[in-house]
Amino acid sequence: MALNNIKSNINQLRRHARQVPIGKVTIGGHNPIAVQSMTRTKTSDIETTVAQIIGLQKAGCDIVRVAVPDESAARALTSIKRQIDIPLVADIHFDPQLALLAIEAGADKIRINPGTFTKTAMLTKIITQAKEKNIPIRIGVNSGSIERDLLKKYGKPCAAALVESMLRHVAAFEKLSFENLVLSLKASDVNMTIEAYQAIATKTDFPLHLGVTEAGTSRMGIIKSAIGIGSLLQQGIGDTIRVSLTDDPAVEVHAAHDILHALNLRCEGLNLVSCPGCGRQEVDLIKIVRDFEQRIEPPNKPVTVAIMGCSVNGPGEAREADIGIACGQGKAVLFRNGKIMRTVPEESILNELRNEIKRFCE
Ligand code: SF4
Repeated sequence: MALNNIKSNINQLRRHARQVPIGKVTIGGHNPIAVQSMTRTKTSDIETTVAQIIGLQKAGCDIVRVAVPDESAARALTSIKRQIDIPLVADIHFDPQLALLAIEAGADKIRINPGTFTKTAMLTKIITQAKEKNIPIRIGVNSGSIERDLLKKYGKPCAAALVESMLRHVAAFEKLSFENLVLSLKASDVNMTIEAYQAIATKTDFPLHLGVTEAGTSRMGIIKSAIGIGSLLQQGIGDTIRVSLTDDPAVEVHAAHDILHALNLRCEGLNLVSCPGCGRQEVDLIKIVRDFEQRIEPPNKPVTVAIMGCSVNGPGEAREADIGIACGQGKAVLFRNGKIMRTVPEESILNELRNEIKRFCE
């Protein structure tokens, strides 16, 4: 089946969530799947936080979330927001007063786990203020913080408990006439995450923020996220995603884009095709591809680049890509739009690709 057909099948399958604007980015409906990440800085350290957010935006982050653990972090949001150009989400736990401060400070959305708030009266206040400022609230339930009575009912954290917890919170918000909601039901277990999202997707039409929580380091975390987030997206479920990694947050953003690329759901930037290499290669293919990935700036338009190790299968793939390299002994043939452009020495492959990508994008 042609890739375009696969893409349109996924789009046809896409669950039609209601649209929710988060600052200048709208999620749900037919809008592109938005990529999110979260800063690792102390939010009260405004300068460092702004620098990290700008870096994340450059990496391709559409919406950024910051932790708001105390009053100084909440108050810092006003200044942070003034200095950045992507929607800012405040992450609040336990202290509803901080949610009120974050909304006042100009957050574009707040993320709360209502299960961590003990007084309903405070939830009413948060909702009133969010309505006044017309900002959405993400209800984020998590397998680590399921209510006690649900744990007792189900015996342990499970998808059904996550869904029941979420439906309770949604009902509480709806009772207070607040429907500007985004939902997330994250677990560190991939199967539980998939089951929970599949179930909630049939029960509400609120947009869904996908993620496998506490997924681990980039080695395992990217795999868990690719399976969890990727399989849900492939079923048409999900409106915004975050890959959670114990790593630099820019790695999360790159991984999120890679998942979207792999499903053909987002095509800007670089799509790299490279062969694994084998006994036929006569160049240091791993080094060439690693250097390429680390040193080439993501282009501002979709470019597929193929880097192939030899002249057996290499020219075919290289011809299919926008720009392709088929390596030979210490040299390579460079293709562009299916045509041979020139032969380049092995040591110049990276520079030649960089220049060719630049020309291609002009
Ligand atoms: Fe081996 Fe050539 Fe295939 Fe790469 S393209 S895996 S080097 S046969």
